[in-house]
Amino acid sequence: MKYLYTILFICISTTIFAQNTYLQCGKLVDTKAGKVLTEKTIVVSGNKIIKVENGFVTGKKNDITIDLKNKTVLPGLIDMHVHLEGETNPKAYLQKYTDSEADIAFNSVQFAKTTLMAGFTTVRDLGGSGVNISLKKAIKSGRIKGPRVFTAGKSLATTGGHADPTNGSKRSLIGDPGPKEGVVNSVEDAKKAVRQRYKNGADLIKITATGGVLSVAKSSSNPQFTVEEIKAICETAKDYGFHVAAHAHGDEGMQRAILGGVKTIEHGTLMSEKTMDLMKQYDAYLVPTITAGKEVTEKAAIDDYYPAIIVPKALEIGPKIQNTFKKAYDRGVGIAFGTDAGVFKHGQNGKEFGFMVEAGMPAMAALQSATTTNAKILNMQDQIGQITPGYLADIVAVNDDPTQKISTMENVVFVMKDGKIYKN
Ligand SMILES: [Zn+2]
Repeated sequence: MKYLYTILFICISTTIFAQNTYLQCGKLVDTKAGKVLTEKTIVVSGNKIIKVENGFVTGKKNDITIDLKNKTVLPGLIDMHVHLEGETNPKAYLQKYTDSEADIAFNSVQFAKTTLMAGFTTVRDLGGSGVNISLKKAIKSGRIKGPRVFTAGKSLATTGGHADPTNGSKRSLIGDPGPKEGVVNSVEDAKKAVRQRYKNGADLIKITATGGVLSVAKSSSNPQFTVEEIKAICETAKDYGFHVAAHAHGDEGMQRAILGGVKTIEHGTLMSEKTMDLMKQYDAYLVPTITAGKEVTEKAAIDDYYPAIIVPKALEIGPKIQNTFKKAYDRGVGIAFGTDAGVFKHGQNGKEFGFMVEAGMPAMAALQSATTTNAKILNMQDQIGQITPGYLADIVAVNDDPTQKISTMENVVFVMKDGKIYKN
């Protein structure tokens, strides 16, 4: 009987005395309704939002009350295209031969933290050496600070394709990387490569459907997979609950990717109107990465920043990305916020909002693309992307109302992820 009382007491006391966090928000962006609300209080318990109350409510003695009365509060931001393993620098191409996995791992710890501090509480890592899978686990376990990561592990390419890991190496180092290393050249290879990624612990699949800018290879945009290979990748991916993201600059490769069943087209630079309509028909989303386009254009002007083969590709592709985004948005293509951070400095992801608005997208739509839209693509629409009771407590704040001043998104001043405060 005594034990029963003790247990009962513990149960009651944890309910009554549990420490909740009260966030008093001057403004609150309701991403679901597309409205900016004023004077609200978000109540967080554990890792969940339990209430959103009208006015400024103060917690009880044991609770924490945080004053965000002169801030605008938003759901944690989601970036659909980052590379947490690396960051642009003039030595990046040499580092491929000098850095071990341990070097990559230590660097990625810093990049992950910077990303979280910039207000991005969830990201999709679209390709690295495989260290990105370990990084995801380390963040999830709470050992290091970073966003919630959905990772592709190593990307998939065809021989000599954009993500072939041995591009640009001397003959004796090239070898013949197979599906395990992400190089596929048949339907059978395609299935094997997807299953290998499942085994390795990836959450989704990334393919490079066309040439790209930053690979040591000639074409920026030629098609690099057959439709049959892409179909095999997408169908196998479905068996594991994975979606497929396709890097693509060229129109033909993009069309094949959409017909093959990919969920997102990354960059989409040379997309025709026909392909835009195909995207709508197949419910595929464009991940714009305008910031990366601006960055490679800028860096290509610096002598020896990139290997010579990359410079003309950067100057051809980089300046076109923002305009394609504008055309696709105007034509009604779904837009999933994503930046390609790593191609530029981590933590500057928020610049993308300004570029989207500059191209004609309303600020609220840009914010929704980074929250509700991306949550849906990640199949997390019931957990993240909104400030709603029952959702995970991923909450950020900025100094100004972003619907009035979008550049405020480059300076996130408060970050909570999973109910834990990382920046205040
Ligand atoms: Zn990328």
